[in-house]
Amino acid sequence: MNLILLGAQGSGKGTLAKNIAKDFGIVQISTGDLFRESIAKKEALGLKAQEYMNKGELVPIDLTLKILKERIKKPDCKKGFILDGFPRSLEQAEALKKVATIDYVINVHLPYEECVARLTTRRTCPKCGDIDNMDYPGYTGNCRKCSTPLFQRDDDKPEAIKTRLEVYEKTTTPLIDFYSDRLFKVSSLGSPADTYKPVKDFLLKHGGKK
Ligand SMILES: [Zn+2]
Repeated sequence: MNLILLGAQGSGKGTLAKNIAKDFGIVQISTGDLFRESIAKKEALGLKAQEYMNKGELVPIDLTLKILKERIKKPDCKKGFILDGFPRSLEQAEALKKVATIDYVINVHLPYEECVARLTTRRTCPKCGDIDNMDYPGYTGNCRKCSTPLFQRDDDKPEAIKTRLEVYEKTTTPLIDFYSDRLFKVSSLGSPADTYKPVKDFLLKHGGKK
């Protein structure tokens, strides 16, 4: 079962992806991880991607797809995968058709103000990268994993959040139409468990095997 996960930053998309991956035995693939893995293994395609990243340029779509194609051939993707953060445009969605069949697209929806609210209270550990939220129970201001004081990333500040969410909205709306025949929409206004429940039911009903 091959899935795409759509959802703005702050929508809880990452947590949902983890739940699906764990329950259904499929692999979560974010483009960032895809490049990092390939680079770490010193694969030729990964090193090529690194050249673009070092120059601060976007990795071209053809190269991204080649890396993805290699990744999904690996044995851990036998039961399927969830793409997170890709495709981001119609052009990419068209190109993806040549590499993989997508069964379902899960669109995680959270009202704009709520995304902003969740992102502005998000705090990051400078040492281990763990993410926490001031609104979560037990928040102390220190990292739960390594006790380092947390900080607010520049791109989690209000102005940057606004820009990120606007860009997201603009690029994703056409994708929702593109995948309308295989789209499942879920609201993430409730808890992570509330968000996951209907998605799980949908996937089980549509042939996902746990
Ligand atoms: Zn930490």
